[in-house]
Amino acid sequence: MGDVSALKGIVDPDRSRGGMTEGTIFKIKKYALHDGPGIRTTVFFKGCPLSCRWCHNPEGLDPRPQPMSHRTSSGEIEETVGTVIGVDDLIEEIQKDVLFYDESGGGVTFSGGEPLAQPPFLLALLTACNRLEIHTALDTSGFAPAAVLDRILPRLQLVLFDLKIMDEKRHRRYTGVSNRTVLENLKRIAESRTPVRLRVPLVPGITDGDANIDSMVRFAGTLEAVQGVDLLPFHRIGGEKYRRLGMTDSTAGIDLPAADRVAAIKHRFESAGLTVSIGG
Ligand code: SF4
Repeated sequence: MGDVSALKGIVDPDRSRGGMTEGTIFKIKKYALHDGPGIRTTVFFKGCPLSCRWCHNPEGLDPRPQPMSHRTSSGEIEETVGTVIGVDDLIEEIQKDVLFYDESGGGVTFSGGEPLAQPPFLLALLTACNRLEIHTALDTSGFAPAAVLDRILPRLQLVLFDLKIMDEKRHRRYTGVSNRTVLENLKRIAESRTPVRLRVPLVPGITDGDANIDSMVRFAGTLEAVQGVDLLPFHRIGGEKYRRLGMTDSTAGIDLPAADRVAAIKHRFESAGLTVSIGG
């Protein structure tokens, strides 16, 4: 039942000021090369209903702007991470690089945090991008009500879908939520024929076991819309950010994946006929 309340919690009311829909983001990454095809602008939404042990974007978890310390030449200062922004302002920023998108076959990727946790904001952004003919991709945990997904999907050209843990109990243990909605939504996306790339975090001792990988390979093989798999080996970039946010580092104690294990998992997916890249 915990999942039901978590799902309700992510459907925010339409936040608008003066008729303009707005939302909360924590970063805009320009010239991104690993979040979909071509050169892209990646927009990171703030707020996520999951709490993955290995999360390397802890500043994306809380839906509100929050203090984060920042090292400068004169010591540590506190800054606010996260900003509330209107759709028009964000679209103006995205549009600045439209020439790069056109030249490279790129576009915009909405990532996070969890973009599906701010439905009216995401919907308005996608509608604007569609109107401007900017390619749109969504990087998601897939944890959202089906009704939200149904409104979003027709406006997307690509979904980057995180597939983490297939066993329901282990998924709940390591991410804080059940994977039932996640897997149902992945099937739903595949049935809609929206192209999907699976993003598989390789976290030693948590996601990289044979049983989990074999189960993912079998599941992926049933979904025609899956165009490929991106293996994302765990890294330590997030650890320092937990400290700067005053949070307990949930990644402490997790080992880095061994290169031969990553190669073996890549081979396992490839032998099922899937195209695999390492690092997204
Ligand atoms: S879904 Fe992504 S942003 Fe959310 S907790 Fe997990 S890793 Fe972090």
